[in-house]
Amino acid sequence: AAKAQGKNAYAVFEPSMRQGFDQEVMLRAELRQALADGALHLAFQPIVALGDHRVAGVEALARWQHPEHGTVTPDVFIPVAERAGLIGELGLLVLRRACAEFALWPGSQSAYLSVNVSPSQMIDASFPSKVAATLYEAGLRPGQLVLEVTENALADESEVIGTLRRLREFGIRIAIDDFGTGYASLRYLHRFPADIVKIDRTYVQDIARDPAAVHILGTLWQLFGAIGLTAVAEGIEDPAQAAMLAELGCQVGQGFLYGRPGPLGAIATGPVTDRVS
Ligand code: C2E
Ligand code: MG
Ligand code: MG
Ligand code: MG
Repeated sequence: AAKAQGKNAYAVFEPSMRQGFDQEVMLRAELRQALADGALHLAFQPIVALGDHRVAGVEALARWQHPEHGTVTPDVFIPVAERAGLIGELGLLVLRRACAEFALWPGSQSAYLSVNVSPSQMIDASFPSKVAATLYEAGLRPGQLVLEVTENALADESEVIGTLRRLREFGIRIAIDDFGTGYASLRYLHRFPADIVKIDRTYVQDIARDPAAVHILGTLWQLFGAIGLTAVAEGIEDPAQAAMLAELGCQVGQGFLYGRPGPLGAIATGPVTDRVS
């Protein structure tokens, strides 16, 4: 596509920019091909109850096995998919795969499935009915699914808010992902159509060395409880963090301590206490 614009199209680019531009064009084409070939797969990470390490849910995380670059992480290819207008297709593929795999997993009756969704997917008015059809095909109930959206999606996009409302009316739960990294104002938090709030891992990392972070988290937990949001701590990597979070009243968490993203079949369906000593 870049070549079609003629050789001189590159004249305005510095060498490094040109490299970036070429790479973007290549990545878009390769991602389009990967979608057509079904070359994306999913890794799953457990979300656990901090008290007894019971698996409360599993989060599906998209992976792209690139022929030359190896595993490309979603932080790279999700933005590419968005810029290339492929996110609707990619998102639906992820949801279908996640639901199909989850339905076959022995833990599916006692844990929920959590799937990340981009704001641009939810601007599509037919998104709720696509989700409903996907659940039906997989034989899952709406109560088994959580959709994760970043707080920036909720800033003031009324279309997205309307979509979230319809999904919740249908019985699907909504999680605000990476809370505390975006533009969401605490003033509006109680108005968000959400059930769960996932505290970004940067806050969790800080608690071991920063007393102020402990106060902030403790206060947030009280606030979430008061407005009926279930809080999940992201990025728990060591037992000291887990212990501090539990003391602050956090009941659910996720992180390398409890399991790295991997095949769904590798996640124990009972308590995972044996992995954490
Ligand atoms: P996220 O939804 O906040 O997912 C958590 C990310 O943190 C994952 O990175 C996970 O591997 C990583 N993580 C989990 N525990 C720990 C920990 O203890 N320490 C550290 N350092 N990291 C941890 P991943 O898989 O690279 O995904 C990055 C982001 O890409 C996700 O962040 C999510 O926003 C996005 N993403 C992933 N899959 C999809 C998808 O299917 N659709 C969309 N729209 N976005 C996706
Ligand atoms: Mg997430
Ligand atoms: Mg997150
Ligand atoms: Mg994230």
